[in-house]
Amino acid sequence: MKIDLITLFPEMCETVLGESIIGRAQKSGAIEINCVQLRDFALDKHKRVDDTTYGGGMGMLMKCEPIALCYEDICEKRGCKPHFVYMSPQGNPLTQNKLKELSEYENICVLAGHYEGVDQRIIDEFIDEEISIGDYVLTGGELPALVFIDALSRLAPGVLSNDECFTEESHFNGLLEYPQYTKPMEWRGLEVPPVLYSGDHAKVDRWRYEQSLINTAKKRPDMLEKKELSDEDKGILDKYLNKK
Ligand code: SAM
Repeated sequence: MKIDLITLFPEMCETVLGESIIGRAQKSGAIEINCVQLRDFALDKHKRVDDTTYGGGMGMLMKCEPIALCYEDICEKRGCKPHFVYMSPQGNPLTQNKLKELSEYENICVLAGHYEGVDQRIIDEFIDEEISIGDYVLTGGELPALVFIDALSRLAPGVLSNDECFTEESHFNGLLEYPQYTKPMEWRGLEVPPVLYSGDHAKVDRWRYEQSLINTAKKRPDMLEKKELSDEDKGILDKYLNKK
């Protein structure tokens, strides 16, 4: 997976993306992330990338030409047209399903906006998709872009080791993950559920699946409404609800 991030703050993004799992994945070559300074594509001597809006209003807007030149340069260097995503509070909500879908692209370009956002003509002519990280407004697109790139990168082959596999995590199958425990077996009088050290893998899997269902019912019942539940699942949930 190759990701180009167009931003006014490449150093900030490189620092975050250079750490931990994503940093290691870049070093091993499992993913490639390139942060590009948008200002390098500004045409005037002051390197301005924003201007006032037509129709009035206080805010400034990101101009078309630097963004277009920057994306075209990325296309030329990559030898293809990367799927172009604009981080925007007006976009499609970022979900695990959306990430799964976008992880199919070998090349993705992400635009982090600023000020009042970007000129509509860029959105109409260049952007393939707008993505939002939630129904609230941040000052700039760097944090949303970093959230998006982190979550997307961990789906690329070779980024997570087998024991960090994302297929068992919250949201992958429409459920939240089961509770987890580490050593010691007893801490301040609180014990780890015995099934987890029984050595019976089938029982552990069963327990985890049941707990996953119950955890979802407790914390995010809305997710269960969207999931197709088997009769067995319904039985597990009935038992849990009757015990409450
Ligand atoms: N005027 C815009 C509007 O009302 O839709 C908001 C602009 S916001 C202050 C500046 C930039 O932050 C946006 O261009 C976008 O890149 C980013 N941004 C802010 N909130 C976001 C969110 N919830 N999801 C994704 N990007 C966001």
